[in-house]
Amino acid sequence: MLTTLRRIVLEFSQEAELQNALERMVSSVKKAMKTDCCSIYLADYHQQHFLLMASDGLAKTSQGQTCIGFSEGLVGLVGQREEPLNIADAQQHQDFIHAPEVEEEDFNAFLGTPIIHQRKVLGILAIQQKESRHFTENDEAFLVTLSAQLAGALANAEIKNLLNQQEEHNQGVKQLHGIAGAPGIALGQIFVCQPQADLAAVSLKKSNDRPKQLLRFEQAVEKTRLEFNALSSKLSETIDDDSLAIFDVYKQLLEHANLGQEVAAKIAQGWRADSALRLVIEHYISQFEAIEDSYFRERASDIRDLGTRLLINLQQQAQEEQLLPNEFILLAQDVSAAMVAQYQHQGLLGIISLSGSNNSHAAILARSLGLPAIMGVNAIVLSQLHQQQAILDGYSGELFIKPDETLIQEYQYLLSQEKALTDKVMAVAHLPCITQDGRAIEVLLNAGLSAGFEHNAQLGALGIGLYRTEIPFMNRHCFPSEQEQTKLYRKVLQVFPKHSVTMRTLDVGGDKSLPYFPINEENPFLGWRGIRITLDHPEIFLVQVRAMLRANQGLNNLEIMLPMISGVEEVDESIRLINQAFAELKAELTTAITTELMSASNADGHLSLQQAQLKAQAVSAQLVRPKVGIMLEVPSVIFQMEALAKRVDFFSVGSNDLTQYLLAVDRNNSQVANLYDAFHPAVLTALNSLAQQSAQYLTPISLCGELAAQPAGAILLLAMGYDKISMNGHNVPRIKWVIRHITFTQAETILAKVLTLTTAKQVHSYLNEQLEALGLGVFIHAGG
Ligand code: PEP
Ligand code: MG
Repeated sequence: MLTTLRRIVLEFSQEAELQNALERMVSSVKKAMKTDCCSIYLADYHQQHFLLMASDGLAKTSQGQTCIGFSEGLVGLVGQREEPLNIADAQQHQDFIHAPEVEEEDFNAFLGTPIIHQRKVLGILAIQQKESRHFTENDEAFLVTLSAQLAGALANAEIKNLLNQQEEHNQGVKQLHGIAGAPGIALGQIFVCQPQADLAAVSLKKSNDRPKQLLRFEQAVEKTRLEFNALSSKLSETIDDDSLAIFDVYKQLLEHANLGQEVAAKIAQGWRADSALRLVIEHYISQFEAIEDSYFRERASDIRDLGTRLLINLQQQAQEEQLLPNEFILLAQDVSAAMVAQYQHQGLLGIISLSGSNNSHAAILARSLGLPAIMGVNAIVLSQLHQQQAILDGYSGELFIKPDETLIQEYQYLLSQEKALTDKVMAVAHLPCITQDGRAIEVLLNAGLSAGFEHNAQLGALGIGLYRTEIPFMNRHCFPSEQEQTKLYRKVLQVFPKHSVTMRTLDVGGDKSLPYFPINEENPFLGWRGIRITLDHPEIFLVQVRAMLRANQGLNNLEIMLPMISGVEEVDESIRLINQAFAELKAELTTAITTELMSASNADGHLSLQQAQLKAQAVSAQLVRPKVGIMLEVPSVIFQMEALAKRVDFFSVGSNDLTQYLLAVDRNNSQVANLYDAFHPAVLTALNSLAQQSAQYLTPISLCGELAAQPAGAILLLAMGYDKISMNGHNVPRIKWVIRHITFTQAETILAKVLTLTTAKQVHSYLNEQLEALGLGVFIHAGG
């Protein structure tokens, strides 16, 4: 049964046309279930009825014609009850309605199941039989399973169909929905960035330009060879010679005499470079996999890896060659933070990602750049949207393809309002962030997600509360050197010479991966992430910390923050390493100054070595070890605050991860995005407890998750007693405005009420009401 089921679902998703897919499916089900009729009805929510789309058994003429109201007949009943209906004699059922045109007089038994996707009934799948009998439990189980599996494919197919119709008729605005990822509106042309580096997905194509294809391949080989050299010399200190030998194998394979020659031969036959690569690699893999010896069989995966690396470099060239429009909305299967960073200065207007959710790092980065984004827009055929005109509504998560003039004007008006609000808050952004009754809270900047560091001094932020160091590690082929990091961090520290700059040590893993340090895990957010990686690799941690300390010399505004702390051992070990790096640097500085003093004094001999050393020690004693703090984002810390407070200088809550881990909702999974909510009463209670405990243990606390950037979130955090809140630059002036227009007493009253509520929905509606009452309603939409 399982194979039949798989086959039917597979056949369904492989059909290009929805109508053909439905017709093929009903026939297959009828045959598999040895029954007399199978039909599928699709819901039309505008018309409030089910339309008979395909049937093998009912009159062909009724297909696409017969409609059954949502509250009519057995089909309507299945939809209303959202469960299967198994009836031996349908015609006798009180809800049966006679539709003569379908010619079902001979059928008695009826089994119908709803097809439900994301809690919405998409249609009804029904089988009928002449014999008057109940269908068996197995029949029921089969149909329910099939309907559940078809649901996703059907949702996809419906949207594909919608777009196809649009292609054919070239008329009408089409609307797609996703998750509102970053507020704002973008009007412009879509640019599709195709997923990279899947050899199996390369379509086999020929090209007339053989020399060009050969050149592309040779350039990709050269680039890959250089990457291997860099990687093997980088790793030579940490891995043994046997493991390093793999790079030699790869390099040999790349030689012209081996794989390279074969690809060149295929190109000479007229194949495009990527097609030729696929043909050769697949041939090699099949040969290796056929060998009995396990050593050789394993080499197949090396070949695949090598092929993928070559393909990445080939496709990067193609991507580079593809001309970007002056302004565009980026659309990709999985928009990553690195991609946003890559395109941010090239006319990027907004982002549409088929996967991900509103707390994916790509969405966070979009918010920090003030770019609208929609995440988790399911079921789009990427290529169909390339170069289409669109309106992206990042407030509601709606995407309009080929908008008409009226819609464009409506959105242009909204854009002008949005701009007026920005101008209004920016005009007073420099004023201190104090409530009307005199309570101050510091508003700081989250930075680092974008490739270059940009700061607009007009935003009015008092330093950096979170500098994410990951992105500079991402757009590269190997880890950045200590020197490179020092330079970068120094630049960042110099932006706020009079304020603290909190730099977080590398927090990769989860949805942030490094191309040269692949991590493959079933559950990346519960896996090797943040401090877990860097403590396992002290060489990476020490280099980074040393770079931060070096950058801090003479500025002394650095604070170091550790991500993903789940217990005190991690803190102890990190602090031990930070102290080690600090001691090393101090010793290095003393030696350098001593040498300098001695060489200067050699001329007149006025200093003895001992005097020089003493002087050098006095100078290096001025080196200040920065404060060290931790992120509170793994729920275990809620119960260890006393022990943690003894070890660190400050806390900063990462509400993005704290929400994810408290609610057990992957922040990157669009399927469960509706369950991810930082305003969930459990999250708010945890945040309140963290603030109270840090006050009790006399340790400063701030919050740097996305919650701080939401007006209602900032009000609650103020009332809870957070000393600082840190957020993206776009929201700094807005949040300052909000705080300056309320009193602390009002915030406390709001918090007291919120802490009595039991659902996130109640919290949201109460907070929205309060914002309206305070005259801050305009920020509800804009703050998102
Ligand atoms: C957080 O988890 O809230 C946070 C600020 O860090 P990140 O979003 O980078 O995980
Ligand atoms: Mg985090």
